[in-house]
Amino acid sequence: MTDETLLIDLHSHTTASDGQLTPSELVARALEKGVQMLAITDHDTLAGLDEAHQFNNAQPQPLRLINGTEISTRWNNFDIHIVALNIERSNIVLNEFLCQQRRLREARAMEIGLRLEKAGIAGAYEGAKALADGAALSRGHYARWLADNGYAVNAAAVFKKYLARGKTGYVPNNWSDMASAIEIIHQANGIAVLAHPSGYKLSAKWLKRLVREFKEAGGDAIEVVLGQQTVDDRNNLIALSKLNQLFASLGSDFHFPSGWIELGKNMFQPQGVDWVWQMEKWTETP
Ligand code: AMP
Ligand code: MN
Ligand code: MN
Ligand code: MN
Repeated sequence: MTDETLLIDLHSHTTASDGQLTPSELVARALEKGVQMLAITDHDTLAGLDEAHQFNNAQPQPLRLINGTEISTRWNNFDIHIVALNIERSNIVLNEFLCQQRRLREARAMEIGLRLEKAGIAGAYEGAKALADGAALSRGHYARWLADNGYAVNAAAVFKKYLARGKTGYVPNNWSDMASAIEIIHQANGIAVLAHPSGYKLSAKWLKRLVREFKEAGGDAIEVVLGQQTVDDRNNLIALSKLNQLFASLGSDFHFPSGWIELGKNMFQPQGVDWVWQMEKWTETP
């Protein structure tokens, strides 16, 4: 193959969900980092895409901006994320589904606030809400507020202490199942990608089962290259993609500038992998 390899990153967040850069700032940063194809995949919303396209189209050399979203689903009481790529933005069924997801987010966020209050932490809901500035609330907003207010040293520590499964502020989720989310993605002509499979802290056996059931539920691809992972992890995910005949995707899951996660960083494209953008049904939507 003599094809020039593009720098591709198919998982990122803006202020439309729990990211910290506006859609314009995100696209500007991606261009700065040499990213040539970027998917914006905010949690359960398409709200950042308009601004991102406007900004991108006004650039002398726009990148290929992929319309996406990251949908929260439930599988055996785990929160499993599915990245949707190339969805039709005006699709009514998809938009209504995402609207319902955001209502669930709001209800869960209020419940998290109540639980934290009972644990002696006042004002967390209001604080997270202010950080979200109109976006649907994510545990990411809570993590930031709790860290900023000295309840733990950083967001990761907040998760460990308060927000992870089984901790004080954890509220069992009520998301729809994987098959329903995948069906919605497909009827919006999108591609369904299992997000950060090694991020769920599953045992090898359960991870295998998750990937198999994602395929059985109609899933198309899984992320195999993540911004932060070991070579073993990457090889394991590539093997799982092949075993289940799933296409492969890659993404940094960028939320904000930091020393370790960056747009386009570590977005390797190992040989012998069937990439999601090589799929026949890969159609970039406007
Ligand atoms: P939610 O979708 O509301 O359940 O929140 C999940 C989001 O919280 C993720 O997309 C991340 O932005 C953030 N998050 C999850 N786990 C961690 C962690 N260990 N440390 C920091 N942020 C996290
Ligand atoms: Mn997030
Ligand atoms: Mn995720
Ligand atoms: Mn994400």
